[in-house]
Amino acid sequence: MRDDTRTVHAGRSPERTDGAVNPPVIHASTILARSLDEWDERGRRMAAGERGTYYGRFGTETHRALEDAITELEGAHRTMLFPSGYAACACAVLACASTGDHVLLPDSVYFPVRKLAGSLLTRFGVATTFYDPCIGAGIAELFTPATRAVYVESPGSITFEVQDVPAIAAAAHARGARVIMDNTWATPLYFKPLAHGVDLSVQAATKYVVGHSDAMLGYVSTTAEAWPQLRATSEDLGYAVGPDDVYLAQRGLRTMPVRLARHAETGLRLAAWFAEQPEVERVLHPALPSDPGHALWKRDFTGASGLFGVVLRPAARARPALAALVDGLELFGLGASWGGYESLLVPWSPDRWRKPTSWPYGGPCLRVHAGLENTEDLLVDLERGFQRLRAAM
Ligand SMILES: *Cc1c(COP(=O)(O)O)cnc(C)c1O
Repeated sequence: MRDDTRTVHAGRSPERTDGAVNPPVIHASTILARSLDEWDERGRRMAAGERGTYYGRFGTETHRALEDAITELEGAHRTMLFPSGYAACACAVLACASTGDHVLLPDSVYFPVRKLAGSLLTRFGVATTFYDPCIGAGIAELFTPATRAVYVESPGSITFEVQDVPAIAAAAHARGARVIMDNTWATPLYFKPLAHGVDLSVQAATKYVVGHSDAMLGYVSTTAEAWPQLRATSEDLGYAVGPDDVYLAQRGLRTMPVRLARHAETGLRLAAWFAEQPEVERVLHPALPSDPGHALWKRDFTGASGLFGVVLRPAARARPALAALVDGLELFGLGASWGGYESLLVPWSPDRWRKPTSWPYGGPCLRVHAGLENTEDLLVDLERGFQRLRAAM
């Protein structure tokens, strides 16, 4: 079975839903047992981590349907849902590290994970080292006897460096450390973390899985070895995910392959257009042959999604110039998140937080999310935006 077939059929069992194509949305806190024996049995299954229903916080068949579908798509042992993508990132790290341990994080990591290193991890005595995302097998030199986990995110947030995940995983496993990967950009359709040596695959399902900008959700899919600790940590923290959001995510999942193909196609066309503009210093898109990460991307990924970066020339840094471009856009929205059907364009300045590597460009970065609009219409909007930018620079 191929992935586009799998996304249609995985996790659905019409025999459990009296024939309905989709799973029911079960709103529940209390789950009633019909007898003391059943109550004990539900409790036993819950404690043993077996499939079943015990209490709303641990999810119901609504949750199981999505978890099953994702587990199949990820080629994982099991999947845990979280109330946001970031909650999934944080819990994956917390599951792998205790006081006195050490964790390696890429300099291109999603910003809130960088913050986690300086706040909660520091408070609980977990040391972190930020590494060059392009380090590859050279990561071996950064391990200490206390290193328990290496975090990867490929391509990186905002700056889009492609990482050599198999080489990093080999180095980590040689030292008994786990590998956590934020795979939100590619989704399991375009990159299979566990098949490349990752132990915990994290996804901000808020983005492409939900796909319609109307729900927050995250998940972590793991190997059998990494599962018990993830599950225990998540239970300790008491996360619960609302059934309506779970339903929206399983609904989004069914069309993800067709949406992603369109996001990808439009993204590549927009990227090619940006690359031709004199105001553009560089386009950060691994599927462009000129991108430094292109060879690795081609080796490991089966597609590129619709999110990429554009580095403008330093003269565009002046606020009136940037505002002239952004404020007049009609189709590209200015807002956090991405992966929905609507296009977005958001300026960032990665040089503000990069450390220990430095970001070599003086101009601002644009993060562009190619939505599902007609590409010609999007290009007209961008043409006009760049005319305004040119006039203001
Ligand atoms: C958005 C995002 C997250 C966090 O997801 P939320 O659902 O917004 O909490 C994590 N990682 C990456 C790469 C993201 O883009």
